[in-house]
Amino acid sequence: MGDVKKVADLIKEKGYVVAFTGAGISADSGIPTFRGSQGLWEKYDPMEYAHIRAFNSNPEKVWMMLREMSQVILDASPSPAHYALSELEKKGFLKAVITQNVDGLHYVAGNTKVIEYHGNHRWLVCLSCSKRVPLTRDIITVLPYPRCEKCNNVLKPDVVFFGEGIPMLEMIRANEEANKCNVLFVIGTSGVVYPAAEIPYIVKSRGAAIVEINTTPTPFTSSITDYYFEGTASDILPKILEHL
Ligand code: NAD
Ligand code: ZN
Repeated sequence: MGDVKKVADLIKEKGYVVAFTGAGISADSGIPTFRGSQGLWEKYDPMEYAHIRAFNSNPEKVWMMLREMSQVILDASPSPAHYALSELEKKGFLKAVITQNVDGLHYVAGNTKVIEYHGNHRWLVCLSCSKRVPLTRDIITVLPYPRCEKCNNVLKPDVVFFGEGIPMLEMIRANEEANKCNVLFVIGTSGVVYPAAEIPYIVKSRGAAIVEINTTPTPFTSSITDYYFEGTASDILPKILEHL
């Protein structure tokens, strides 16, 4: 188990911190992770439902899962871990959050520089005319799926499905931060979804420190992690913050 005081000293000494987050940081907000054993993904295999081919060929079926996911996201509020990262930004140490999550909770918690590598589920986009509308409780009740008010085409959450590319701007911004930081927090990510999972390796190759928080070890832990904390993000992050 890592030493919270040591990591706090490292942050004070180095100063340019970036956080790279995954579904685990939102687990304490009640949003199931992909590789956990809870609810949503036992019913819906993400590989089947979160692939763009599945959406294009059967939007009605995929919207059954999206409707439930939307409800979970609209009901969720930030966890102590999200708030700790917002506090770390206010204190001037945390310069950016690069997140794989699509729940928008880093913004809700008050972080201002958030790079949403896989998009944001709180927006819907028309696949035909690109019009974007906010996700609301009303819009998700529309059957068989929500449609664009301009061109009547199917709306899709503005997130990156398997089989789709990362938005260019987010990729550029994430690489910029990966090349600037001297401490990277890797929080609640299994490190198996690429190209996102390349980010910690890019950071490490520049000689910056990797601080990892997860409930179980990941491919990063034994290869590039300098300080590993085993536990929930909501438990560990506030403890580090206490020393800053
Ligand atoms: P993942 O589901 O593959 O892995 C989650 C990781 O979090 C695991 O390593 C697990 O051990 C860890 N974890 C679980 N609870 C934790 C806690 N309380 N504190 C710290 N760590 C905890 O998630 P991923 O690596 O982000 O990759 C999955 C993909 O699924 C991402 O691309 C993401 O876009 C998407 N996804 C997003 C959400 C969301 O927006 N909240 C939820 C599920 C999946
Ligand atoms: Zn349209």
